[in-house]
Amino acid sequence: MGTSPTRVLELEDKIRLRQLSFHAPEELHNSAELSGALDERLEMALDESERLRVRADSLFRDQKSPTPVREDELIELARAKSADLAGVVEYHDARYHRHMWALVIGVGMTKERVAAAPGPAFRDYSGLKDLHAIERANQIVYALLAKGIAAVPAVPWGLHTFEMDLVRLGEEAGLGRIGLNHCLLVPGFGPRVKLAAVYMRPGEGALRKKKPSLPDVCRACRLCVPACPAEALQRDDPHRCRLHFRRNHACGVCLQVCPL
Ligand code: SF4
Ligand code: SF4
Repeated sequence: MGTSPTRVLELEDKIRLRQLSFHAPEELHNSAELSGALDERLEMALDESERLRVRADSLFRDQKSPTPVREDELIELARAKSADLAGVVEYHDARYHRHMWALVIGVGMTKERVAAAPGPAFRDYSGLKDLHAIERANQIVYALLAKGIAAVPAVPWGLHTFEMDLVRLGEEAGLGRIGLNHCLLVPGFGPRVKLAAVYMRPGEGALRKKKPSLPDVCRACRLCVPACPAEALQRDDPHRCRLHFRRNHACGVCLQVCPL
């Protein structure tokens, strides 16, 4: 009897997971080979997210009684996978026409490295941290699937983030406040955080009440607004930021000037 297609997929997943080293080393940052290696790793991690998303589509359709999961279990799982931040929020998912839970995770960046923005050093560092966030989201999805819980990653750079706004979800999950630079301002990290999320059906129990955890310092500061080279912040137009970011393969000036 041959191996079933599902089993083949599972084996493939295991092999690919082994190939993806979970912690991309920080020292890669200083290597001349970084850009090529990073691009390759990012592509692999995004492929992985996409495959998990496709699989989740059928699981969400077919799964009649999903295994319930609790908010504290999810936070613990995210911490076990080395996420610097984790919070859970309920949201309405237009794709599945239902209420879902999102486990929002964050990976912090250091002030020293962000001081290199804008420029190639920051671009590589930013890409590395994107990779960390994507790999963690993928790992969390695998861990949930192993428990019988259908879940899907939503990642930065991903083509299928379900048009969910990770920053808004992060604020609603109580991780921080949205700043004038359209980033999530997080205690201890300021705006230097890469976000990703894992979506799933609602778990067990009510979610604890979330409180924004930062005072509204932006109104008094405004340092990032005139510093933005794309005038995205002056005009309150995130589209200008995206364009500028793509054309220059990164930016990060608003992170670099932020005093938080
Ligand atoms: S630089 Fe100032 S205004 Fe801009 S996000 Fe940081 S605290 Fe807010
Ligand atoms: S263009 Fe640069 S400075 Fe302006 S919002 Fe985007 S990342 Fe920040």
